[in-house]
Amino acid sequence: MRVMKFGGSSVGDPARVSNLCDIVRAALPLRPVVVVSAASKVTDMLLTAARKAADGTVDDAAIVARVTGLLRAFDLPDALVAQELSGLHDALRAIAAGREATVALTDLVASYGERVSVRFIAAALSARGVPATAHDAYDVGMVTDDHFGAADVVTEAEGLLAERVTALAMRDEVPVVTGFIGKTRDGRVTTLGRGGSDYSAALVGAAIGSDEIEIWTDVPGVMSSDPRVVAEAHTIPALSFDEAAELAYFGAKVLHPKTIHPAVRRGIPVRVKNTFEPAHPGTVITSRGDLGARGARAIAHKRGIAVVNVVSTRMLLAHGFLARIFEVFARHRVVVDLVATSEVSVSCTVDRDDHLDAALDELRAIGDVTVSRHKTLVCVIAAGLLQDASVCPRIFAALGREDIAVELLSMGASAINVSLVVGGDDGERAVQALHRELFQERAS
Ligand code: ADP
Ligand code: ASP
Ligand code: MG
Repeated sequence: MRVMKFGGSSVGDPARVSNLCDIVRAALPLRPVVVVSAASKVTDMLLTAARKAADGTVDDAAIVARVTGLLRAFDLPDALVAQELSGLHDALRAIAAGREATVALTDLVASYGERVSVRFIAAALSARGVPATAHDAYDVGMVTDDHFGAADVVTEAEGLLAERVTALAMRDEVPVVTGFIGKTRDGRVTTLGRGGSDYSAALVGAAIGSDEIEIWTDVPGVMSSDPRVVAEAHTIPALSFDEAAELAYFGAKVLHPKTIHPAVRRGIPVRVKNTFEPAHPGTVITSRGDLGARGARAIAHKRGIAVVNVVSTRMLLAHGFLARIFEVFARHRVVVDLVATSEVSVSCTVDRDDHLDAALDELRAIGDVTVSRHKTLVCVIAAGLLQDASVCPRIFAALGREDIAVELLSMGASAINVSLVVGGDDGERAVQALHRELFQERAS
């Protein structure tokens, strides 16, 4: 069996949906299970509608227009998704009535993007002669915890998915399953976090023992940098699970950071391919990666990072200083990425602001706290970093030439990455300068 996941741009445009149908048809001998995202922009539109509903305005007109536009391009009737669109309308009205977009209602609203998408794609496939059926992931075993907005599967999910999805794949119709969403044991709809359809696909793939997990997107594989920032970025033919995990974690949107975990657990290769260029081999991610690789491999970046500094001369030489700080972060579910310490201070980066203020109030009892926001974290992935003395001097030389100051630095934690924080306005320039230094100039 073969899991094939198609992202938002692959299901959000008629020409691309036609490619999708051809790609799935060609894979029929492999018994494909298709996982799809919401059409591009639809999740953003749904979240905006949820926020507007909290202010009392129920407005789903743009979403309905986007969805029916896609259906009509394939001569499919609006009735195909009438139930979903009316469910969405009711959910928005419930938010408006309570004047609050609770996390649970927001997830319910967001879920309709994928729920509409499976029905559209299954019908488009069937109309193109590839019989297919639509399934909401929670009906085929995607049971999650109740951490709305960033839910994770519970232990029984793998067995349920294995049993139910395998049974569907054995039929003569291609199952098309929603990415991104699940349900709690007591039946409330959840989402796995933005970009989470990749993770859904990996969970399904691991459960059914897919021979490969295919992620079809709008770029030809995992590239040396985000091609939207670096026009010269190139495809990396083979990556290790470790390299891909670091890249995804530090901002390469092409893969959701959790995608790798189920694949590693079951030793299943993940392949990233371009729906608009199906013949391109893309990137294959395996446990061995590219054994011959040397030097820099890729540069990832993440915007909107906050750096928190805690200074406490009272804590000079005291043990337990770090433990107290991290205990506060842990209780407030704030994820810390990079850490640098001196004798009396700790600096760390966090990438979400939502629970930060409450944590900061508690940290003020430990020391003087300052926060600088809107920073960019840049991460260079390189093979054999600890043995290769040339990578770091080149990083600093490239940033120095551009007069870009480094505000925080971390290296050594994984032997394959150097991470640094620069001012938000310098972020893209830093990535471009590093890409020139580490890839282009060496090649020329
Ligand atoms: P999908 O909707 O298919 O899931 P995403 O928008 O989530 O697609 O991810 C694909 C995008 O990821 C690309 O269009 C690209 O701009 C961005 N991206 C960021 N870093 C990288 C990278 N290193 N390699 C490839 N794409 C990247
Ligand atoms: N539709 C969801 C999002 O936009 C999930 C995904 O695309 O992977 O975040
Ligand atoms: Mg994505």
